[in-house]
Amino acid sequence: MDFNDTSQEAAYRDEARAWLAANAPKRSGAPDNGLDDPTNMEECRAWQRKKAEAGYACITWPKQWGGGGGAQWQSVIFGQEEARFDTPGNPFQIGLGMCVPTVMTSGNEADKERFVRPAVRGEEIWCQLFSEPAAGSDVAAARTRAVRDGADWVINGQKVWTSGAHFSDFGLLLARTDPDVPKHKGLTMFWIDMKAPGVEVRPIHQMSGASNFNEVYFSDLRVKDSQRVGAVGDGWRTSLVTLMNERLAIGGGGGAGHRTVLKLAQEISTLTGLAVKDSALREKIADWFVQAEGLKYTRYRTMTALSRGQTPGPESSIGKVVSATLMQDMAATAMDLEDQFGIISDPQTAPLAAGFQTALMNAPGLRIAGGTDEILRNIIAERVLGLPQDVRLDKEVAFKDIPTGR
Ligand SMILES: Cc1cc2nc3c(=O)[nH]c(=O)nc-3n(C[C@H](O)[C@H](O)[C@H](O)COP(=O)(O)OP(=O)(O)OC[C@H]3O[C@@H](n4cnc5c(N)ncnc54)[C@H](O)[C@@H]3O)c2cc1C
Repeated sequence: MDFNDTSQEAAYRDEARAWLAANAPKRSGAPDNGLDDPTNMEECRAWQRKKAEAGYACITWPKQWGGGGGAQWQSVIFGQEEARFDTPGNPFQIGLGMCVPTVMTSGNEADKERFVRPAVRGEEIWCQLFSEPAAGSDVAAARTRAVRDGADWVINGQKVWTSGAHFSDFGLLLARTDPDVPKHKGLTMFWIDMKAPGVEVRPIHQMSGASNFNEVYFSDLRVKDSQRVGAVGDGWRTSLVTLMNERLAIGGGGGAGHRTVLKLAQEISTLTGLAVKDSALREKIADWFVQAEGLKYTRYRTMTALSRGQTPGPESSIGKVVSATLMQDMAATAMDLEDQFGIISDPQTAPLAAGFQTALMNAPGLRIAGGTDEILRNIIAERVLGLPQDVRLDKEVAFKDIPTGR
């Protein structure tokens, strides 16, 4: 493992830091970063466009499609430096992190020409239409049907938990095209226009008050065969590109850290004196410190692999398992410390701009999105530790013969 920047990396870091210092915008939208606030969305788009024009958006993508034509290590360094600034939110993450890379890998040339550049510049937003009520962890169990009709396909069914569907222009959809073969073999991927007749988006109201994700219904949605991404029946293989990118994109995670809890404990008095004197709390903070250091060094390992031109392995799943639980645990303790003020969620009046309240409400979602804790632990067990595989009874059965319980 290499903890230090090489001279080339250090020079790039200086350059990125200087550019960010000169160009990172001052935020003026609502402080909760809600993307339904048009001011916030406009700021996000403007920031993305500015980065694209300077070659800092999609740093590793080819210049011909609006990317920066750079290396993975440059992308990691820029991300680290950008995280130091309070830049606008990122409604482009799902499109640029997952959907558009899938179009670039498996789509036809016309689609690449049409979609990549506007997405890089923040002009068009994408959502990922994979999960269904009975197909989440087991996404290959998708039941949304696409049936061939001449030069078109007709789509019926339902997706759920679709982040950003309500402000997206396009979606990447996994549909069942052949129920007579085993589940992984009868899927096909399409891109769809989210504003087309036959697409209905219903926002899901969350406990945080926001509606970040949606149910999406398809009623006789007609798509052209040219909207197919990859071969008929090859949707599972195509979706693996999306899913691999998803884990890397969600990875790390953060929120207010253990140092903030320590500072809070040094300032807050309880019935028995300063909170920081409490040995049980000190033990927790020490434990979080150890976990945060472990995460930091795991990230160094990923960074080292990238700067050597290697691909990070399944061990990148560790980052999300540890950081999401850590975030939830720290936020719950910090809100206890804040006592009656801990229940205030308005960032204008809550302590520390409601950083811990927001983290507590986001953490459960983070532990589910992009692979639940249990699924990621299965991956670590099977592919990192080499333990025996989970039992998969329906792998070779025709999809239509898998019992549904109805
Ligand atoms: C914030 C957020 C954003 C999301 N955004 C999107 C999006 O944009 N697009 C999209 O398509 N989806 C999205 N999702 C959906 C997400 O991918 C699924 O919620 C996730 O894959 C889990 O599926 P599920 O909710 O159906 O739970 P299930 O798969 O039904 O799991 C239920 C429980 O069973 C456990 N379990 C399941 N299988 C196993 C197993 N083999 N071994 C051990 N335990 C198991 C799970 O860990 C979980 O605890 C989002 C989810 C969240 C929370």
